[in-house]
Amino acid sequence: MFAVFVPTTRCFLRRVLPGPPAAMHRLYSLDVTAPLLRTQGYVDGRWISAASVFPVLDPATGQEIARVADCGPAEAKQAVDAAYTAFDGWRRHTAKERSLLLRKWFDLMTLHKQDLAKLITFECGKPMAESLGEVAYSASFLEWFSEEARRVYGDIVSSPAKDRKLFLLKQPVGVCSIITPWNFPSAMITRKVGAALAAGCTVVVKPAEDTPLSALALAELADQAGIPAGVFNVVPCSRGRTPAVGEVLCTDPLVAKISFTGSTATGKRLLKMAADTVKKTSMELGGHAPFIVFDSADVDRAVGGAMASKFRNSGQTCVCSNRFLVQSGVYDRFLEKLGRAMDAELRLGHGSEPDTTQGPLINTRAAEKVVQQISDAVSLGAKVLRGGKRLDGSFMEPTLLADVTTDMLCTREETFGPVALYKTIFSDLWCWTVTRG
Ligand code: ADP
Repeated sequence: MFAVFVPTTRCFLRRVLPGPPAAMHRLYSLDVTAPLLRTQGYVDGRWISAASVFPVLDPATGQEIARVADCGPAEAKQAVDAAYTAFDGWRRHTAKERSLLLRKWFDLMTLHKQDLAKLITFECGKPMAESLGEVAYSASFLEWFSEEARRVYGDIVSSPAKDRKLFLLKQPVGVCSIITPWNFPSAMITRKVGAALAAGCTVVVKPAEDTPLSALALAELADQAGIPAGVFNVVPCSRGRTPAVGEVLCTDPLVAKISFTGSTATGKRLLKMAADTVKKTSMELGGHAPFIVFDSADVDRAVGGAMASKFRNSGQTCVCSNRFLVQSGVYDRFLEKLGRAMDAELRLGHGSEPDTTQGPLINTRAAEKVVQQISDAVSLGAKVLRGGKRLDGSFMEPTLLADVTTDMLCTREETFGPVALYKTIFSDLWCWTVTRG
C-alpha cells in the first residue's frame, strides 16, 4: 500500500471526506481575502453578471466553493468589443508605461501569493506547495514580460535593390482570445497575457470551466494594478456554454489572434473556426511524453526524475511522463525502486493538508478516463503492481502497471493521471514489457 494518510481506502475516505458535513466544511473551507474571491465576469474594467451562474467544486470533496457568472455569447461579444476599443489606447502607451503596469501586477501577485495559491488548491486540487509554486511561476511571466516590453526592437535588413531600405517593425496584432486549461489555472493565463499585453495587444480570457476563480482573482489584481479598462477581460462560463462562447472568441472579425492550451481535439475545433477569418493562432496541445532509462543510467537518479515528472499535479500536466521505456538490464531494479519510492513519498489527500503530495484528479470524468485505461490494460494482460483503484470522488490511487503492450489504450492516449507505464527495451528489438504506474 502507499503511504497515504492511513493504510486503507476506507480510512483515507474518512480523512478526505469526514463524516458530518459541518466538520468537513470547517476542515476545508476556502478562506481568502475578500476582493480576491470574485465570481462575476470582468469586462471593460467592470464586474458583470450573467443570466445564470454555474458551480465551482472543490475536486477533493465535491463541495461547491463558489457560484460564478455563466457568461454566454453576448458577454463574450461585449468583451471582444471592449478589447477592440481599448486596443487603440493600449498600443499607444509607451513600452515603459506598459512595463510599469505589468510590474505592478506582478508585485500584487507576489503580495497575495498565499490567497492565490489557496484558490488554485481549492478549485484544482493541487497540494499547497505546488499551488505556491504555480503562483511564483505564474507571476514570473508578468515580471519577465514587464522587462521584455521595453525590448520589442525592430531590425534593418539588407535590401536586394540599391534604392530600397528594408525595416522590420514589430507591432501588436490586436485583440487576442486566450483559452486556457484547468491544470495551471493561473500560469497558463499570465504566460499568454503577459506577452500579449507587453506587445500592446488586448485580451479576452476564457478560463476552463473547472477553474475560473484564479482567472478572476488575476482580473481583480489587474484592476488594482491600474491596467486600463478593456485591456484584460475575463469571461467565465460553464461547460454547456463553452462552445457558444468559444465560437465568438474564434470567429469574431475583431479578434486577430487565438492562443490556446488544451486537448488536441479541442485545438483542432478551434483551428477550424479560426480558419474562416484566417486568424493567427498559437496552439499548445496534448502530450505523450516518453521517459527512457538505459542500462547505463544511475537508477536512483532516474527514479527521482520519474517521481517528479510522473506524479506532479497527480500526473495532470502535458509534460508529465506518459510512458516509461526501460532497458532490460535495469528494468527490474528500476521498477522495484520506483514502487518503493511511490510507497514512501506519495500521500493522497486534500491539497490544503500539509503532508499531501497527491490531490484528486480535476473531476470525476478525468478519474473515469484513467479507470478505463487501467481496465483496458489489465484486460489485455497488464499487471497492477501498485494502486489501480479509484477512491472516493475523483481520487485515484497512484498506479504502477507492468507487462504493458502497445495495443493498450494507455500507451496510445495521454493519461493525465497518476499512472506510470513501463516497457522493457531489448537492445536490438523494440519490443516492450510495460509497467505503467
Ligand atoms: P479538457 O478536456 O482537459 O478540459 P479541453 O481542451 O477541452 O481539455 O479544455 C481546455 C480549454 O478549452 C478549456 O478552457 C475549455 O473550456 C476550452 N474549450 C473546450 N471546448 C471548447 C470550444 N468548443 N470552444 C472554446 N473553448 C473550448
